[in-house]
Formats: sequence, C-alpha cells, structure tokens
Amino acid sequence: MPELPEVETVRTGLAPSMEGHVIACATVNRPDLRWPFPERFAERLTGRRVERLRRRSKYILGDLDNGETLLVHLGMSGRMTVSGDPLGLFVHEHPKTAKHDHVIFDMDNGARITFNDPRRFGAMDLLPTDQIDLHPLLAKLGPEPLGNTFDESYLLEKLQGRNTPIKSALLDQRIIAGLGNIYVCEALFRANISPRRKAGNVSKAKVAALVPIIRKVLQDAIEAGGSSLRDFRQADGELGYFQHSFDVYGREDAPCHTTDCDGVIRRITQAGRSSFYCPQCQR
Ligand SMILES: [Zn+2]
Repeated sequence: MPELPEVETVRTGLAPSMEGHVIACATVNRPDLRWPFPERFAERLTGRRVERLRRRSKYILGDLDNGETLLVHLGMSGRMTVSGDPLGLFVHEHPKTAKHDHVIFDMDNGARITFNDPRRFGAMDLLPTDQIDLHPLLAKLGPEPLGNTFDESYLLEKLQGRNTPIKSALLDQRIIAGLGNIYVCEALFRANISPRRKAGNVSKAKVAALVPIIRKVLQDAIEAGGSSLRDFRQADGELGYFQHSFDVYGREDAPCHTTDCDGVIRRITQAGRSSFYCPQCQR
C-alpha cells in the first residue's frame, strides 16, 4: 500500500508530463473504481490543461484550467505508468493496453499516463478547486507532517491526556495526515519511543524530538523515491514503488541497528497492524 513518500514520488514522476499540459484525450474503461467515477468524467477532463499537480496526504490533486480539481487516490494496488514522455525520462513506446488499465490520459505532449488497479481500491473524483478541502476524503485530515502547522506545540496538545498507544495516535489521520504504518514504526524507533507507550505518557522532550524525526523519516524516503525515478529499475515507466531500507519495519528477529544495542527487533500486533520495534532502545 503506497504511503506518503510513494505518493509524493508518483506526483514528482507525473509532473513533467502533466503540469502545464493539456489532457488531449481521457479514456475511462469502466464505470467505477472503489466508487463510481463522477458524471461525464472523461468528457470533463478531455481538453483541460493541468495547471498544477500537488499532494494532500496520500491524494494527488490536479488543478485544472476550468476551476476544477482532479483527485486521485492509488488505493491498495493502484499504479501509475508514464509512457512516451517527450522529456526522455521514459523513452519507451506506449505499451498495449493491459488488463486493469482503467484510466488513460493522453497528453498533448505525447505522454500517456495509465492508471492500472487490479483490486480497484483506488479512487478518482472531480470537483471545484475551491471546495476540494471539503471533499469527504480530505475534510477531516490533520495537518501535513511536512507542513508548517505541524509542530511541537501542536503535537503536544494532540497527545496530551490520550490513553491510546502512541502508535495509534500517530496513525490517526485527524492528528497527522498521510502518516502510515511503515513510517510510524520507523519514526518511533528513531525517537526511542515504544509503540505501546500511551500517547499521553510520552515525555515533552520526546514529543519535541518526534516532530523533526517524523519529517526526516518521510524526507529520507521521498529522497529514495526521487532517486528511483532516475534509476534503471523505473525503465518500465511505473512510478512510486522503490527500494528503501528500514531500521525496524519488516525486520522481525533481526538485530537492532543501534550501535552497542544487542536487542532484536520484535513484531507485535496493535489495532490489527504490525508494529516493529526494539524493546531495548524503545521505551
Ligand atoms: Zn535496539
């Protein structure tokens, strides 16, 4: 499941082909993904210039020249592919349309953007740009972890008195938008905080340290994603999935990366999700 850094990588990868360019032809091959497409979806997109491609949480937002915004959510298995990009990032020809290629944008610059989603948990919507923050998927989201309103005093206030584990609090999208399981595990490791600790019991100093750590964990991953765009592995034009090494995530029973720690990474289940942590470093 793509997390914020993966979505940001997809956005970065799409931008050269889409930003400032006109969707010469939008093709929609089925009536729905997770939800039905908006009415006359293909028709409303065709001929529109994409003024700006931005991201909110795990959603890609394409602001169009007619005051509407295209919202894209990759869901669990959604993939974006760019082919025929004139800038030479993805030099191969357009592939034959494959099974599960649900939406195709042919841009005026020759690039083709293909959205493939076998499980169809993805979503696309179209609504007025000035109402995008009111969209049901976006309305209740907390601040962006990389944005200015996410800071020490904000996080302290949100965690204060909370009896849920810190892990669950950080996954709560109303507190921070776009933070998912992988990067919460990694951030808690770097901050030496046990995922089981009650949110309200994390010391002020540790909460203060957590803010820049969360940013750094995400920025490191976004950087790795950026490198992957220039990497030969992306020669098929698929965006957003990249090799990235983790300190704790997926490392059950492996030795802790902290110098002089002889701990072993443990996996526990919290609220149905796996938490990976070092019981020696994280208290
Ligand atoms: Zn350790």
